[in-house]
Amino acid sequence: MSIDQKPSKPLGNKEGAIGSALIGLTRAEMRTRLGEDLGLSPAQAKMRSNQIWQWIYNFGVTDFAAMTNIAKEMRAKLSALYTLARPQMVERQVSKDGTRKYLLRFAPGIEVEAVFIPGVGRKGALCVSSQVGCTLNCTFCHTGTQNLVRNLTPAEIVGQVLACKDDIEEWPSSKVDRDLSNIVFMGMGEPLYNTQNVAKAIEIIADDEGIALSRRRITVSTSGVVSQMQALGETTQAMLAISLHATNDALRDELVPINRKHNLAELMEACRTYPGASNARRITFEYVMLKGVNDSLREARDLVRLLKGIPAKINLIPFNPWEGAPYQCSDWSQIEAFADIINRAGYSSPIRTPRGRDIAAACGQLKSDSVKIRASQLRKEKLGQE
Ligand code: SAH
Ligand code: SF4
Repeated sequence: MSIDQKPSKPLGNKEGAIGSALIGLTRAEMRTRLGEDLGLSPAQAKMRSNQIWQWIYNFGVTDFAAMTNIAKEMRAKLSALYTLARPQMVERQVSKDGTRKYLLRFAPGIEVEAVFIPGVGRKGALCVSSQVGCTLNCTFCHTGTQNLVRNLTPAEIVGQVLACKDDIEEWPSSKVDRDLSNIVFMGMGEPLYNTQNVAKAIEIIADDEGIALSRRRITVSTSGVVSQMQALGETTQAMLAISLHATNDALRDELVPINRKHNLAELMEACRTYPGASNARRITFEYVMLKGVNDSLREARDLVRLLKGIPAKINLIPFNPWEGAPYQCSDWSQIEAFADIINRAGYSSPIRTPRGRDIAAACGQLKSDSVKIRASQLRKEKLGQE
């Protein structure tokens, strides 16, 4: 493992916060904003926003001065009005397996982790966070021990992608054979408690004039916020992953407490009707292997039964330990026997290799030191969530 403590140069303001950011606006929003702020005609606003969009999301420029097809005076006006600031990279760790974990700061006390995993997906996957902390308390998840601080904005979600692209020198976006080929919303937080901002971030990331990642390569993982699943599918056409982890309500109530609100029957029904799900676009079911808790062969058979009729693939995740965790990872022989039953039922290669464990970058190990400010604020966020 190597630790690079050298923070990236914060662009824009001192804390690396994104002020009047253009990043985080969809292309249509950017057009409107430029038109209004600069008094441009609709045609001019369209042309300018398309140019700026290309510079930001295809070429990765962080300074208006580099936008050479825009007149000098206009560039000066743009830099006076807007910022293209990246989040500040507070820490960057590289695992011996090549996984990179970033600690990113958006504002004082607002920090999240994002993880780039080479060799996952088509070429490499970036695991992004959607919230600072999480309101849910899945008992095996380290993030769950951190209270929700707040939802991330579209700018902050897209900022994680830009920071990673800077780090792996993935510009221009249009280059062939890119290393960052997939995005997974499997970092900190529950994306479907922040559906609107997640959807807007996906619109920006998938825009074909910029980063242009296919929506089929963008996966959103949810612990089971049934009420938001349909909206996610309709607005984003993203791939869906479900953190299942148990095959009966009694155990799932304990491991994934949102199950008390939306039980397995409801969750499975929402999967059956997820927009666009088909054999070519399967829903991923994640199942963390907890020794003696959910890893019996009977449960493997129950799992197969539960998923019957749903276009599904299964990802078995060896439990990644963290300090104070009340579980152990299942024995390897048990994971293999469990996988075998699933394989024989027609599902292929289901065990997820733990990545970046040496830098605590693996699934469920992410956490930042950001703490929530006030309990009343948290209650307000919770009320506004569904
Ligand atoms: N909140 C969302 C997305 C983030 S979690 C969700 O729960 O789906 C990403 C995945 O890692 C989830 O499937 C989660 O259940 C799993 N996970 C959490 N803690 C883990 C741990 N300690 N070991 C292995 N997987 C874990
Ligand atoms: Fe939150 Fe997902 Fe962790 Fe559960 S598994 S506590 S929903 S981040």
